[in-house]
Amino acid sequence: DFDTPLAEAWVRAIAAAVEKERARLTDLDSAIGDGDHGSNLQRGFAAALTALDGLQPAGPGAVLTKTGTTLISKVGGASGPLYGKAFRAIGAALPDPAAPAAVAEALSAGLDAIRLLGKAAPGDKTIVDAWTPAVAAFRATAATGADLPTAAAAAAEAAEQGARDTIPLQARKGRASYLGERSIGHQDPGATSTALVFRTLADITT
Ligand code: ADP
Ligand code: MG
Ligand code: MG
Repeated sequence: DFDTPLAEAWVRAIAAAVEKERARLTDLDSAIGDGDHGSNLQRGFAAALTALDGLQPAGPGAVLTKTGTTLISKVGGASGPLYGKAFRAIGAALPDPAAPAAVAEALSAGLDAIRLLGKAAPGDKTIVDAWTPAVAAFRATAATGADLPTAAAAAAEAAEQGARDTIPLQARKGRASYLGERSIGHQDPGATSTALVFRTLADITT
């Protein structure tokens, strides 16, 4: 089940993954944005680790809520408030400990928060294009009675596919939308970092 040590391990693993993939995320954002997505997330999740240091969290939800609040305050780009609101919503919805079905509900609340703030729909070439299939796959897998590692692995697969599927899309939200048709043919940076977020969850649970 999803407990406090797992929540902390997830945030630590995301911080390590965005650090490792920073250049790739930045390259993707250089193609259709302003080239700061890698550094935005690196700075945000490094700050989240610092904020968690010495915190005695009341549960896994408190860990993710603190992470979200830190991302909102430390990341100026679009991704800070979007990921920040998502982690806060996940944190607010997560019981201690959370069974896979409850984790699915919490992730779904995270996606709702992203959509409420960013107003992007699936197909707009944003983080929503990876979050939507990831949450759907997590929920469908959890509904079969599968354990957390199995649901997380399904979500990671779906997020990675969703990120790849942004390549032929034209951006309709965020900076990439300013490029119009020239945004076609590039993978969305935020959908790519979303795939990292779900892959790390699969990695730490298996
Ligand atoms: P900025 O665009 O402000 O420099 P980042 O580079 O950190 O911020 O993040 C860019 C990513 O944010 C995009 O690749 C896209 O996935 C996501 N994004 C931008 N606007 C929106 C939105 N309105 N809704 C959902 N995601 C968005
Ligand atoms: Mg950017
Ligand atoms: Mg920027």
